[in-house]
Amino acid sequence: MVESERLWKKANQIVPGGVHSPVRAFRGVGGVPRCIASASGVFLKDVDENEYLDYCMSWGPLIFGHADAEIQKAVQEALPRGWSYGTVEPYSLALAECVTQAIPWVEKIRFVSSGTEAVMSALRLARAVTGRTLVVKFDGCYHGHVDSLLVRAGSALADMALPDSAGISKKVAEETAVLKLGDVPGLEAFFEENGKQVACVIVEPLPANYGLLIQEASFLKKLAKITQEAGSLLIFDEVISGFRVGFQGMAGLTGIKPDLVTFGKILGGGFPVGAYGGASRWMDAVAPSGPMYQAGTLSAQPLAMVAGLATLQKLQQENPYALLEARTQALAQALREVAREEGIALEVKHFASLFWIVFGNQGQIQSPQQIPEEHRTFFPRLFHALLEQGIYLAPSAFEVSFLSTLHTDETSEILIQAMRIALQVFKTA
Ligand code: PLP
Repeated sequence: MVESERLWKKANQIVPGGVHSPVRAFRGVGGVPRCIASASGVFLKDVDENEYLDYCMSWGPLIFGHADAEIQKAVQEALPRGWSYGTVEPYSLALAECVTQAIPWVEKIRFVSSGTEAVMSALRLARAVTGRTLVVKFDGCYHGHVDSLLVRAGSALADMALPDSAGISKKVAEETAVLKLGDVPGLEAFFEENGKQVACVIVEPLPANYGLLIQEASFLKKLAKITQEAGSLLIFDEVISGFRVGFQGMAGLTGIKPDLVTFGKILGGGFPVGAYGGASRWMDAVAPSGPMYQAGTLSAQPLAMVAGLATLQKLQQENPYALLEARTQALAQALREVAREEGIALEVKHFASLFWIVFGNQGQIQSPQQIPEEHRTFFPRLFHALLEQGIYLAPSAFEVSFLSTLHTDETSEILIQAMRIALQVFKTA
């Protein structure tokens, strides 16, 4: 910890909170963030030479683990060709073809450099093609730091949002309505009154940013129906779920075709890539085909494009989804079992290769309000008890964990044994 601590002090002097993205600062769990110097496979190595079995996996993009050899090769081959041309090139075309051929409801796609940018552009497009302003989101979903979505539910006047960050104007927040996940009557009532003003509804079809709030397919189907009837667009934010729960994401799994979809994370194989796409009738409104302006100096950066393509091609070749799901399910079951044997009330929610450890006895958790109170208090102690044993979970009670294809039954066993030891801290308190 010596070197991690030294660098952490230094970083705090010249970087806000010592980090370039807030959750990395360990504020939710306390303590000093480990300063990671390198990563390989399922392991992180910090500047003090400690190794950690990683279940954060860069928050989702690394479905084949750190520094995958094939992705590395693709990037290494691309490097001598130069890394930004600022013009038309074949690499983004290959990635665009790969996505549009496999996902029929994405007839056209535009690459940007982050999930936030993808969402921001999709909202602008929805407003452009509908001529409406109002955006609907759901409490418990995160869509990046777009002003109009960095809002929370207001307590008074039905559903209109309040800023959830300093620096966001009340006016911008008022153009967003925040509804409750899974609440069909609430949705119907809102659309009855405001439906004709709604440009779009945006949802994480697998909400995975406030714990794992798995929704009923019937709720997602209702969203599709109600938006269609109102002439609003449905946007599936698949920045996490895209290429993660299956190659076609949640839209593929549920059979619900959104009007627009946003991607990020896996699409760039760990390099900065986001994208938005959908039917040509919408995407043709994007400049220079249409009147909705959106651009980027480093958009479709060639190294990121080849890393993304290598990742997606490998997913298509290996089709690892069933194996990932089976391993995640077995791990969740074993962790639950350990907790039961140790007499600790704890659940492990899982879907595809995502899982979320949550304290308490709550059965179904489909909204933030259903997350047990004690979870927030207990999770930091579990996090540190695991970290001491070389297990790296995401440093927040509300972030999910990810398996990569390199997480095996052996690595699961390491976590299960560490969990048994970690849970002892709750007995001595
Ligand atoms: N949408 C979802 C569902 C996300 O999980 C995230 C980031 O975690 C974003 C959008 C924003 O993506 P980025 O962090 O690349 O801007």
